[in-house]
Amino acid sequence: MNTPVTVDYAALLETAIEEARTGLSEGGVPIGAALFRRDGRLLGRGRNRRVQEGDPSIHGETDAFRKAGRQRSYRDTIMVTTLAPCWYCSGLVRQFGIGTVVVGESQTFQGGMDWLQSLGVKVVDLHSQACIDLLGDFIARHPEIWNEDIGED
Ligand SMILES: [Zn+2]
Repeated sequence: MNTPVTVDYAALLETAIEEARTGLSEGGVPIGAALFRRDGRLLGRGRNRRVQEGDPSIHGETDAFRKAGRQRSYRDTIMVTTLAPCWYCSGLVRQFGIGTVVVGESQTFQGGMDWLQSLGVKVVDLHSQACIDLLGDFIARHPEIWNEDIGED
């Protein structure tokens, strides 16, 4: 049996929020993410860079995932993201068997949260007002960029 480990998810979220703020300062969509070990060790961090790089496949989660490099197993990892993962990133969680997903908020966008939960992934929603405000302000100013991000016409 694994020993239970107490991790402060809100503290982990701070890393993702920092990434989101960096993205905003670059003119990008303010969504950040970070991949951690179950004990809270950081493996990789990243942010949505679709605008910056002109690459629609760079979401916060995929960026953090790539920065983390190859891992033997993802069961004991935690994907922390400022916003509920889209279908593409939910697919990544499913594909690699990431055990836990912590989201800053799911009010703006629900993504694949229910689907992940139904697959046995532990999903934690921190209902962070900071995350809601960060993205909400951006969407109000750039609705067309946001719609492109989530694949809405
Ligand atoms: Zn995504």
